[in-house]
Amino acid sequence: MSVLKHTPRVLVVYTGGTIGMIKDDESGALIPLDFVHISDHVPELKRFRFDIRTVSFENVIDSSNVSPEIWVKLANLIYDSYDAYDGFVVLHGTDTMSYTASALSFTLRNLGKPIIFTGSQLPIGTLRSDGKMNLITAVEIAAARHHGNAIVPEVCVFFENKLYRGNRSSKQNAEFFDAFRSGNYPALADVGINIRYNYAAIRYPRSQNLELHCEFNTQVAVLKLFPGLSREVMMAIISIPGLRGLVLESFGAGNAPTFPWFLACLEAAVAKDIIVLNITQCFAGTVMMGHYDTSLAMLKMGVVNGKDLTTEAAVTKMMFLLGQDYDFAKIKALAQTPIAGEMSAV
Ligand code: ASP
Repeated sequence: MSVLKHTPRVLVVYTGGTIGMIKDDESGALIPLDFVHISDHVPELKRFRFDIRTVSFENVIDSSNVSPEIWVKLANLIYDSYDAYDGFVVLHGTDTMSYTASALSFTLRNLGKPIIFTGSQLPIGTLRSDGKMNLITAVEIAAARHHGNAIVPEVCVFFENKLYRGNRSSKQNAEFFDAFRSGNYPALADVGINIRYNYAAIRYPRSQNLELHCEFNTQVAVLKLFPGLSREVMMAIISIPGLRGLVLESFGAGNAPTFPWFLACLEAAVAKDIIVLNITQCFAGTVMMGHYDTSLAMLKMGVVNGKDLTTEAAVTKMMFLLGQDYDFAKIKALAQTPIAGEMSAV
């Protein structure tokens, strides 16, 4: 690894989200505004002795409107600016932040620099906004180095006092400032008077050759199981023309009904080369296929064990794997193997 001797350079990318929103005079609804609006409220950024540049998406958006095109645009922007900066901060709406952070962790391989996603629950122009501290701390983490090397060369989500691996995070709260959680992986840093990095949990790249893989296939569906799920609904989902991947949010440790019609539907999906990825709808814990009788049949028919993946990581990983030029066996194998720290190895 090369040792940096210059002033840290951080690129702040503004995509939209509550942090930069104001109330629309006519409708009273929150709409995103340009970056000048944000920087005016955070003059403190100038006090860092960093070289901080900003770039704003032309059309800033509420993150409910994020699509894979936005992931590709963002990944390309970071890839093209990679050599010019030591770290990146992405200001993004909280609603789909974990999806975008997960997607970027798959597109940008061998990442050697921090990409820190943050935003806020209250617009930065409001008195009690959490945006200011989130942004200031995210910039500090993006610039943080130890012996000249990035301390956290990962795609992360920073919110309130916690730095999470992006592809382990989920939005958990639509009101309070601790908007995110990471049920199956420890925080990469806890922020109080000091920023305490959890070095043992941070992933360091084996190679310094950044790779960009931008193809996503969106022929994916998510089915959250619930008691009373009907055969018609199940049939309709697995009959979607062109469907290539189904993320199955099962119960507890990966359990699903053993009704013959349900298992027959799944078997038909697997026979059509649809990747069925079994994840749990619990906030924490993992799928253990074969642990109960209610997952044994799925294991036998070739349903893939998604272990402790979040829904966000499962969906984006599925789209990513299906977007690559891999055969069915390779996609199945990679779906149950960690490729960016997104799941536990066993
Ligand atoms: N609706 C907003 C968004 O995701 C919410 C937020 O930023 O907190 O863009």
